[in-house]
Amino acid sequence: MIAPYLDLVHTLRQAFPQPVSDQVHDAYFVFSFLRALDQLDAMKSASPLLGAPGTLDYEAARKSRIEENPSSLEQVTQTLVEHLSGMFIWGHPRAQINVIPPPTIASVIGGLLPMIYNPNLVSDESSRQVAVAEVEVSTMTAALVGYDPAQSAGLFTFGGTATLLYGAKLGLEKACPGSGRQGHRQRAVILCSERAHFACLSVANWLGIGQENVIHVPCSMENEIRPCLLESMGREILKNGGKIAAIVATLGTTDHFGLDDLYAIHDVRERLVEEFHLDYKPHLHADAVIGWAWSVFNDYDFAKNPLLFRHRTVRALAGAVRRIRLLPLADSIGIDFHKTGFCPYVSTLFLVKQAADLELISRRQEDTPYLFHDGHYHPGRYTLETSRSGSGALSALANLRLFGKDGLRSLLGHVVSMAEILREQLEGHAATTVCNRGNFGPVTLFRVYPDGIDTFGVLECEQKDVSYRDQLLAHNDYNRRIFQLVQEDALKGEGVVISLTDCYCESDYGEPMVALKSYILSPFAEEQYVDAVLQSLWKARAKITADPQPPRSTSPPGSTTGHPNPWARDGRRVAD
Ligand SMILES: *Cc1c(COP(=O)(O)O)cnc(C)c1O
Repeated sequence: MIAPYLDLVHTLRQAFPQPVSDQVHDAYFVFSFLRALDQLDAMKSASPLLGAPGTLDYEAARKSRIEENPSSLEQVTQTLVEHLSGMFIWGHPRAQINVIPPPTIASVIGGLLPMIYNPNLVSDESSRQVAVAEVEVSTMTAALVGYDPAQSAGLFTFGGTATLLYGAKLGLEKACPGSGRQGHRQRAVILCSERAHFACLSVANWLGIGQENVIHVPCSMENEIRPCLLESMGREILKNGGKIAAIVATLGTTDHFGLDDLYAIHDVRERLVEEFHLDYKPHLHADAVIGWAWSVFNDYDFAKNPLLFRHRTVRALAGAVRRIRLLPLADSIGIDFHKTGFCPYVSTLFLVKQAADLELISRRQEDTPYLFHDGHYHPGRYTLETSRSGSGALSALANLRLFGKDGLRSLLGHVVSMAEILREQLEGHAATTVCNRGNFGPVTLFRVYPDGIDTFGVLECEQKDVSYRDQLLAHNDYNRRIFQLVQEDALKGEGVVISLTDCYCESDYGEPMVALKSYILSPFAEEQYVDAVLQSLWKARAKITADPQPPRSTSPPGSTTGHPNPWARDGRRVAD
């Protein structure tokens, strides 16, 4: 009799890709995947959801336990497919939800192949040509954003948050040398704008800088850092003997696509170094996880406009590029291919202008005894992670090759055109007002008002005039209710799913300002779906006029009001 364990081993061998070519088994592998895709396909409809929203039963989830016996691949696949039900289809023309792109087929294959053959980017011994791909993408992207590829270096890491971590870590070593080894005892700060991502707080917390040492510099109405205030706040720190671990410029704020002026920020940095005779240069990190993609337009001929974008689009693209082309002024840059590069999560590149900077965070040879005996490329010496997947690098490479500059220009131009059409309509209507006015990106923040409100002046009054507090709060509720109604419409496959941000900014007297948010990132977006947003808004307004009840306290299924920000004061919420 064969031992039961061997029996199971033989069965389970079928659940692995075969190590020696076996085309029948390959067909089984591919077919299993195909069946999963088929089941997902059957869940598609006119609504931008896979299947139905459903309820999320965490109670049952907590009762889950591993079973005694193996399941078949088919059973497992079935379970996995079910876990995707209720997901938004980000690429659906009726989805304008957040800065989450639909990944291309090429990038999915780029992500999948390393999953099968499992390279580890810790060194090139364990990743071979995939390590080369990381260098290739780093170089291509460095050249694209305007770095000198001969001087710069890049590494893939676990998200935009990690790029801020690397930036701040390098800066900390520059400002307080040796702090990685001995720990740091001096006060060091991170300067960023008040619209910077809350990841700045996470990073300060985790690095031991302390999140209270993140200094938020006020923004202009265009959601850009105010360089003169950056200068005076920086001066204040230095006067009191503090160090500046990093200045973070945000190029493409999450909710508003605000673009900080790197030229002015760089200038401030240089002046402070001189004025205080600093023996280090405060590290300048560009959080361009969203904005980086616009660098494909750095060398686009806007006068000739060979791709024939609409006039308003050309203006918007050129407006963004005038800031994006300054990226080379930053000492390091964060780049998310999983945001505006149409890759699956996680595909994030950290670029540093001077590769030599990485020496600041390199481990000593004796600290990494069993790795790195062979080969020439040893990112594991300076990356925070030890095991690093090749999926991020290969999916990024896939899209850079698939798109070329003109492909990415066309996709970005298209989504910006759609956003411009939306803004044009919202600005033209008496009941709506755009909050991130003069914006050049794919995201539109707007508020809807009841009849009889002068929408030309109301936003400024709500922002600045404390006697508008009650009105502001009432309008916040009004917009929440509009959101719920629009959401219900969208889930029926009639309207468009947009989102709600509970605090796109604070009023001068400290109240959160709610806004509806349309983030267009689908290549399948069309003008008719922009119209559908407006139709849905008018329908919702009419409903509220007919039935002016206060808003319900719970959100409807599928509501995407952003994730709770664990660092928030006032319980405000921030999107991804
Ligand atoms: C999304 C985002 C981050 C965080 O990036 P992840 O990839 O989600 O970790 C940081 N900064 C900005 C401006 C972002 O939009």
